[in-house]
Amino acid sequence: MSKTIALIAHDGKKADMVAFVKDHIEFLVKAKLVATGTTGSYILQTGLEVDRKLSGPMGGDAQIAAMAAEGKIDGIIFFRDPLGKHAHEPDIQMLMRVCDLYNVPLATNPATGSLIIEGLLEDLVS
Ligand code: PGA
Repeated sequence: MSKTIALIAHDGKKADMVAFVKDHIEFLVKAKLVATGTTGSYILQTGLEVDRKLSGPMGGDAQIAAMAAEGKIDGIIFFRDPLGKHAHEPDIQMLMRVCDLYNVPLATNPATGSLIIEGLLEDLVS
């Protein structure tokens, strides 16, 4: 069954996200992708299709959190910038809280992101 993966990266981590997507493109091409607005426009440049939500500061994280709460997301890769301050910090906290509430896999760095992708890929193969 197809998996839906959400991809979000803060500005300081967008280059890392593009590199991550390219590293995992063989799996990601089989998944349904959803992303916050600006992250999504970077992902489009890799040739993958992606459902772009609003930009994070404009409510995109909240839209993805709502999808997670509704059981519409199998995993979230969210590269936060640990050195940045964000106007939408409450939305970021809310997204992480929803993941914990509904047991949605959430990676906040590439190492964990790879494990989630591998785990979901195994699931896809079995
Ligand atoms: P963006 O949002 O992809 O629109 O930049 C990400 C975020 O800041 O949460």
